[in-house]
Amino acid sequence: MEEENNDDGQKLDTDYLPKLGIEFDSEQEPYDFYNECGRNSRYSIRKEWCNKRKKDGVVTSRNFTCCKEGNKTPWERDGENKYERAETRTGCNAHMIIRLDKKKGKYFLHSLELNHNHILHIPQCAHMMPSQRKVSKEQAMEIDLAYDSGIKLKDSYEFMARQVGGRDALGYTKQDQKNYHYSKRQKEQKCGEDEFRSDLDACFKIWEEEEEFLSAWDAILYKYNAFDNSWLQSAFEVKEKWAKAYVKMSFSAGMTTTQLSDSINSDLKDYLQSDYDMVKFFIHFERLLDAKRYKELKGEYNLRQKLPKVKIVSPMLIQAAQIYTPKLLLKFQEQYEEFQGAFVKERVERNATHEYIVSIYGKPKDRQVIWNPFEKIVSCSCRKFERGGILCSHALKILDVMDIKVLPEKYILKRWTKDAKNEIVQDFNGRDIKADTNLEVTTRYKFLGPKYVKLIARASECAEAYKLALGSYNELSKKLMISLEKNLILVKLILTKKIHQMR
Ligand SMILES: [Zn+2]
Ligand SMILES: [Zn+2]
Repeated sequence: MEEENNDDGQKLDTDYLPKLGIEFDSEQEPYDFYNECGRNSRYSIRKEWCNKRKKDGVVTSRNFTCCKEGNKTPWERDGENKYERAETRTGCNAHMIIRLDKKKGKYFLHSLELNHNHILHIPQCAHMMPSQRKVSKEQAMEIDLAYDSGIKLKDSYEFMARQVGGRDALGYTKQDQKNYHYSKRQKEQKCGEDEFRSDLDACFKIWEEEEEFLSAWDAILYKYNAFDNSWLQSAFEVKEKWAKAYVKMSFSAGMTTTQLSDSINSDLKDYLQSDYDMVKFFIHFERLLDAKRYKELKGEYNLRQKLPKVKIVSPMLIQAAQIYTPKLLLKFQEQYEEFQGAFVKERVERNATHEYIVSIYGKPKDRQVIWNPFEKIVSCSCRKFERGGILCSHALKILDVMDIKVLPEKYILKRWTKDAKNEIVQDFNGRDIKADTNLEVTTRYKFLGPKYVKLIARASECAEAYKLALGSYNELSKKLMISLEKNLILVKLILTKKIHQMR
C-alpha cells in the first residue's frame, strides 16, 4: 500500500500518518492519534500490551495494533459453540509502539508498521469500525432526554443522525445507543431503588424539624454517594417548596399547615407512581416544580392584567393597594373589613407589654393581642401574620387603638409585594429565596434556538456562507467561554455565600 493513496484511490490526509519520533504529552494522546489515523485510512485499532513501572504504575511503553492483529487461539477456533462468531482476525502486523522518554516525561513513537494484510474499509463505513464508535457525554444526554420525553430509542437515533447530517457523522451505531441505554439503566437499578425512595420519602413527609431533615438529607448523599447528583442538588435548593420541615415554617398564603402539606402531597402523588425509577422520579419532581412555577407565573400575569380595587378609602388600604399583589390585597381587605367589627373586651396595660382580648362582632372566638409600646410590635394569638404574612383583624384593631393609620414597615413583607419578583426576597428565616433562574434559561433557549437553526440551514446552502458561519462560530464560542467563565466565578461566590447563610 502506498502511503498517500488508499485502496480506493482516495487521497489521504498526510497529517494522519504515523511517523517515528512524534511526541505525545499523555498516555491517552497516542491512542486518539492512532485512532484518528485509523479513521482516515479506514482500519480499526485496539490497545495491545503495555509495560508499567512497578513503583508508580506509570506506563513506560505500549503497543497499539490494527484490530485484525493476531489469530484466534486454537481453543477459540475449535470451540463447540455452533454460533461461533465470524473470523475477524487476519494476523495483520500493522502497529505503533510508544515509549516513555523519562527525561522529558513525554511519550514518543518508537516503532511502526504501516502495512496491512487485508482490505481496508470504505469511507462510508468508517464510522462503523469499533474504535470509532463512542457515545459522547453530550450525545448521552440527548439520548436520555429523548427517552425521558417518551421518544423510542429507534426514533431518537434516526432524529439525531439527521440532525448531524447522517449516521456516519453521529459516531455511534444504533447498537451502541442501545448498549449505552441498557447499561445505564442497569447501573441505576443496582443502587437500591426502593430503599432510596423510602429514604427520600421521609424527607418529603416525615421529618418535621429542620435539623432532622438536614441530617436525613446528608445521610442520603452519603449512602448513595450522590454528592454530584444534579437532581438532588436542585431539589435541595428548593426544599422550601416540598420538605415538610420547611413547608411548615414558610409562608402559606393563608392555608393551614395541614392544608398545605396535603396539597403538596397530593400534587406529588399526581406526579409520582410506584413504578418510577429514580431518574423518572426526579423528572416528575421537576415537572411538579414546573407546574408550581407556572402557577406563580399566571398569578404574576393576572396581577399585571387586573388592577386592584380599594373598597374603603383609608390611608392603610390605599397604602396596601400600592404595595400588595392583588391576591394579597383581597386577603388584606377581608381582614380590614373584619376589623371594623372588632372591639376590645379586656385590657391589661402594664409598662413593658400591653395585653388585649379582642373580639369580632358575630364571631365566637376571642383572641389575645400583645402590644409592645417600645418596639411597636404587635402579635396576635391567631398567628395570621406569622403564617400568612399579613396582619389579622385583631392586630389591626390594636394598631387603630394606638392611632397607627399606616402599616408599619416591619409588617410589610417583601415576599408579598408587587416588586417581589424582581428582587432577592428573604423568607421568614432571613434566607434568600431564589428567583426562578430555570425559567430565564428556558426563555432564552427558546428564543435563541429557532434563530440559530434557521441560520445554520441558510449557511449550509453554499460553501462560502458555510465558511463564514464556521469562522464566526469559532470566534463566538471563544467569547462565550470567556463570558461564561467570568459569570461562573460570580455564581460560585453567590453560592458559597448562600451555603454559609444556610448553616
Ligand atoms: Zn490491519
Ligand atoms: Zn389575630
